[in-house]
Amino acid sequence: MLYTSTRDNSVKVTASQTIAQGISTDGGLFVPCSFPKFSVEKISSMASMDYINRAKTVLKEFLTDFTDEELDYCVSGAYSADKFSSDKIAPTVNIDGNKNILELWHGPTCAFKDMALQLLPYLMTVSAKKTADGKTIVILVATSGDTGKAALEGFKDVKNTKILVFYPVDGVSPMQKLQMTTQDGENVVVCAIEGNFDDAQSAVKSIFTNDEIKARLADKNMMFSSANSINWGRLVPQIVYYFSAYCDLINNGSVKPGDVINVVVPTGNFGNILAAYYAKHMGLPIKALVCASNSNNVLTDFLKTGTYNKNRDFYTTSSPSMDILISSNLERLLYHIAGSDDNLIKDLMNRLAKDGEYTVSNDMLAKIQEEFDAGFSSESSVDETVKYHFDKYKYLCDTHTAVALKVYDEYVKRTGDDIPTVIDSTASPYKFSASVLSAVRDGNVPELDEFSMVDELNKITNTQVPAPIASLKDKPVRFKDVCVREDMSDMVFKLLNI
Ligand SMILES: *Cc1c(COP(=O)(O)O)cnc(C)c1O
Repeated sequence: MLYTSTRDNSVKVTASQTIAQGISTDGGLFVPCSFPKFSVEKISSMASMDYINRAKTVLKEFLTDFTDEELDYCVSGAYSADKFSSDKIAPTVNIDGNKNILELWHGPTCAFKDMALQLLPYLMTVSAKKTADGKTIVILVATSGDTGKAALEGFKDVKNTKILVFYPVDGVSPMQKLQMTTQDGENVVVCAIEGNFDDAQSAVKSIFTNDEIKARLADKNMMFSSANSINWGRLVPQIVYYFSAYCDLINNGSVKPGDVINVVVPTGNFGNILAAYYAKHMGLPIKALVCASNSNNVLTDFLKTGTYNKNRDFYTTSSPSMDILISSNLERLLYHIAGSDDNLIKDLMNRLAKDGEYTVSNDMLAKIQEEFDAGFSSESSVDETVKYHFDKYKYLCDTHTAVALKVYDEYVKRTGDDIPTVIDSTASPYKFSASVLSAVRDGNVPELDEFSMVDELNKITNTQVPAPIASLKDKPVRFKDVCVREDMSDMVFKLLNI
């Protein structure tokens, strides 16, 4: 299996090169040159496997330059029982008829990013050994919350890696901040920076591309890499759980092998739903891919009209991990839909950078609409949806999941299409206790600190608090530094001892 760039078809690289490198030098994203095909028989044969073996079966087809031993080392390390609170890793819960919730938040940080970021460090170190001469990989992350913590947990104490996370001092929730500043591990550093997320992000980008800094790293046999969601190594682990969910539906009798299902995904950067698209084109019987957005509904508009326009108001919502106006992974979908037309993609992306918008042809739009449906949920609908599902089914969901549930219910009303459906649940409700508590109490939230809100939510819903959140209360804060943008490169040198 070889990979090419969405902006230059002459690029041909191996899986380990795409993972070690992260992004193509032409600015394009790496995509597989073909889709491996899984027959219905092969998919049903995976039903008797555990998650680790399902993962190996799928990943083997993409990571063809990894040996069986290497793949086993990566997958078994990432999805070990002591890191996930469910032995199924990503269990499905049937709440009503054909409505199945795929819970992707049983990992160490209680959000779906763990599904990829637990595996990425393994894929990256094995890839670096093959392609970059065993260099130490230095991961720099600018985060607005979830990614930073998930990357820290994934990379902590992984040999030949170091990780530095910068977060905006006033730009993350108290729980997210505490999750990061109490992080353990010998190879991690966390630092707050003055400014907002964009300041942190642009400072990290300028360190990444600074030739002098890169040379100093190279001298010490080190190299920068990125744990950002445009890395193929973050996307490929997400394909696995769609196969796994389908196998679970076979096992519990919800579908027979070969029956079609729909998939609903709360979407931000378009990574998770794109993984479902890959699964579909590998042979998983999926009919509609339903893209669910919050009030930042740039994708809803694009999927309905063919015009992508990021020049619009940005809303801060109760589902912050989906507050995004540039969905980077959409570039990969456009490339596949356009029949691998690299020049067209280059042109569209240049227009996006220059004018903040582009429009695809009617032909492309028709192809996209054959597979994708879309909708969005307002803030008040999110609250109502959390409360409705708790009252009716005793199922407590977080705000991101509520966006998906709301959009799904409207999809069924509009189309009458209620075949068995998998709805992604991307975070534990306890990660967003304040919003969830407010929703189940109809907006009556007492003045409480984060941990008292967790306790209150636990008391009134009688659901379990995930251990990683419960144990935060007693963890000592390790990282108290706040630095200004200009000092960030010095922080990098200090950490790396160079
Ligand atoms: C990142 C994230 C999303 C969005 O996923 P994309 O792959 O970026 O579309 C949704 N929900 C939660 C909780 C997240 O952390």
